[in-house]
Amino acid sequence: MHYRMLGNTGIKTSILGFGCMRLPTVAWDKARIAEKEAIKIIRKGIDSGITYVDTAEPYHMGESEIVVGKALKNGYRDRVTLATKSPVWKDDFNKPEHFEDYLNLQLKKLDVDHIDIYLLHSLDRTSWKEKVLGFDLIERAEKARDEGKIRYLGFSFHDSPDVLKEIIDSNAFRVMLVQYNILNPANEEMVSYAAEKGLGVAIMGPVAGGRLAGEPPVEMHQWLNRGRRNFVDMALKYVWTNPSVSVALSGMGSEQMVDDNLLIASDDTYTLSEEEMETAQDIRRKFKELTDNICTACEYCMPCPNEVNIPFIFTALTYYQVYNQKERARLYYKNIGNVEEYYPPGKDATACVECGECEKKCPQKIPIAEQLKKAHQILSTGV
Ligand code: SF4
Ligand code: SF4
Repeated sequence: MHYRMLGNTGIKTSILGFGCMRLPTVAWDKARIAEKEAIKIIRKGIDSGITYVDTAEPYHMGESEIVVGKALKNGYRDRVTLATKSPVWKDDFNKPEHFEDYLNLQLKKLDVDHIDIYLLHSLDRTSWKEKVLGFDLIERAEKARDEGKIRYLGFSFHDSPDVLKEIIDSNAFRVMLVQYNILNPANEEMVSYAAEKGLGVAIMGPVAGGRLAGEPPVEMHQWLNRGRRNFVDMALKYVWTNPSVSVALSGMGSEQMVDDNLLIASDDTYTLSEEEMETAQDIRRKFKELTDNICTACEYCMPCPNEVNIPFIFTALTYYQVYNQKERARLYYKNIGNVEEYYPPGKDATACVECGECEKKCPQKIPIAEQLKKAHQILSTGV
């Protein structure tokens, strides 16, 4: 495992962080974490050198923090930098004092006396102005820090780089968590800018929400580096090639994923050569040619009031359009809701009534209703 400094916090962090939003579950049910397995893989990650564990209040419908807290018993808590997030984006976070209400609840759920990195979750232009500035959340966070409940304040972010710059320039934060990967390097300039100002930079979605994890079709095989079966190796190393990045978070849901990622993060050559960086651009161009859907399967759009399983439909679309696994994608789509046969719950795109609820919550600003129509057309007729 390689390590880097987390900005000027004085914390040394493993370059690979354990993201706890995709822990193993029972029968596709996000709220039912397979606890024993989840604890086992989190501890395996820590025993193998991971020192950064990241969760959030809404992950796994509120269950992730509880399981992470259990995983960090038996001495594991002191071996990691623990990060979680204040759900400022939620509709029920509508009063300034909800900051303390959530923080106290989260400390209880995690069963810890302090959180190392407390991030204001998923900031955008509106929540920055209305919630963070409007509710004086910086002052409230500083008070919580003085009381010893949190060590460092950070934010995670989903909006355009100009808003990101404004938040960095507030000088209120020591850590930021943003998306940055081969398919979407839009935050690159701000990643460097934040690091120059001394912020620790954590990256979410280094594998583009799993979009780079499929087995590519033959015509993309020339881009697989070092004999790998998928682009995960290249995707993680692409992120670490940027010296401004402190840690890349990977949402790991199985022991196999933990093993694979640990191997990559421990590789002597854990950054890309110039030639490989050019290959990364070829991959980006090819993806753009094949699909205009940029869903990262984050599930923030869920639940849909009409039970449309949006992330699963878009994942099937990626398998169809990018990985050329057409039959598999159509089979998945046809079987949404067929839980007896172990397919995921919910309904297909025809249940969408275009209410727009999901689009308000999508950090990628995807025109979901329109993309669902397109996905249905492709996945049901193959055209
Ligand atoms: S627009 Fe469609 S998919 Fe989105 S929340 Fe409304 S019904 Fe569900
Ligand atoms: S549609 Fe948007 S909110 Fe929903 S899973 Fe995809 S990226 Fe996330």
